[in-house]
Amino acid sequence: MPCVALATGGIEPGLAGLASGLVNTARQSGGVLGLAALTAVAAATSSPAHDAPALDRVVHGYAIALITAAGPPFSWLCSHYKPLAERMSRMTHTVLDDLLNSLTAKALAGQVPHRKEMLGLLATEDDDILDVVAAGSRVRRTYFGMRVKLNHLVNMKSGLCPEDCHYCSQRLGSDAEIMKYSWITANEAARNARHAIAAGAKRVCLVASGRGPGERDIDRVADTIAAIKDAAPAVEVCVCLGLLKAGQADRLREAGAHAYNHNLNTSAENYADICSTHTFDDRVQTVAAAQRAGLSPCSGAIFGMGESDADIVSVALALRELDPDSVPINFLIPFQGTPLGGHWELTPQRCLRILALFRFVFPDVEVRLAGGREIHLRGLQPLALHLANSMFLGDYLTSEGQSGDQDRTMIADAGFVIEGIAEQTLPDARHDLVTIRRRGAGTDQPANT
Ligand code: SF4
Repeated sequence: MPCVALATGGIEPGLAGLASGLVNTARQSGGVLGLAALTAVAAATSSPAHDAPALDRVVHGYAIALITAAGPPFSWLCSHYKPLAERMSRMTHTVLDDLLNSLTAKALAGQVPHRKEMLGLLATEDDDILDVVAAGSRVRRTYFGMRVKLNHLVNMKSGLCPEDCHYCSQRLGSDAEIMKYSWITANEAARNARHAIAAGAKRVCLVASGRGPGERDIDRVADTIAAIKDAAPAVEVCVCLGLLKAGQADRLREAGAHAYNHNLNTSAENYADICSTHTFDDRVQTVAAAQRAGLSPCSGAIFGMGESDADIVSVALALRELDPDSVPINFLIPFQGTPLGGHWELTPQRCLRILALFRFVFPDVEVRLAGGREIHLRGLQPLALHLANSMFLGDYLTSEGQSGDQDRTMIADAGFVIEGIAEQTLPDARHDLVTIRRRGAGTDQPANT
């Protein structure tokens, strides 16, 4: 029954869950109870408070839901009376077009989509995925053209973390057979960074496991930033060290860090289900502290951990409130030996719908395709580039990604170009708070004195 999900999800998503439940009730009860209740919902939504076009769509939607709830007789009718099937198909596509047009118009106007539209997008059918990608792609091309920014992760300290994030192979008690090591030297990190920059990376992300850095750790990272910038002054350096204490963001900024990453990961409502050793608010505070210190805020999420559509919408809206410059979208890498080991719930189409949602919510922000893209998007990875304008190149923190050659070929084959190190990522209207220094020490330009 493809039109049920669209009718109940795409038209009036705020009532989608209720209506879906009623459709199921209708099926299970032979139709009588559910049909009666659906009729009540349809009547309730016919209040004068609804504007005429919206009401029209609601009535259309619930009419489809009502008819579809009749099940086999309706299918039989559709298969024997082609005009009815065609009319139903036209109606559902009109609803989809309206939803995508509204999301696109709001994104291009810098407006936040309505929660019910976001739920509607997540409820669209797999068969409609190309329409969804095309709409998101229009927004992506408006602000970022066909450029793809490449980023590279350097894991400076792996495993041995006292926190218990369920999705993480480096967590306390993880049996995942990952590499575990303490801090690598500044020179080793800089050597890795140099290879990545030569391969096209414009940003290097220095990451260390742990609840948060000590002062000695900030010193190590400062040395590493200096070693990287010594060889490549224009490269962006992002740092990801966990929860920050007072003054640490300032020290990183003074050491030359460009950005600080700290993901919210999931909704506030769902947070306690994925971690017990720190809170959603702790994470919000650290992103805010980084932003106050003048670091470019980078914060995103992980999907595929059992979250609901409502959780996805909530974390997207919470992130929008933080006003990040970049938003990494991760799909769970379900390591054996972690609480979410072997947990596979994503499909390539669902990943694309999530990416499209983030493009509509963050039209002019760097949306980055991050961990898990290869194993969840699989053959549909090139489509994701029509939504995300940024991606990681190479391996992740504890698992291997596809080769750089494969990534560069995929980018070129899909018609995209790798963003140059001197190119501006964000559009002028929301250019980074931070201007990368290209004068004074380390250059042949005079200092700003
Ligand atoms: S996500 Fe970070 S804080 Fe959480 S367990 Fe992994 S390394 Fe530790």
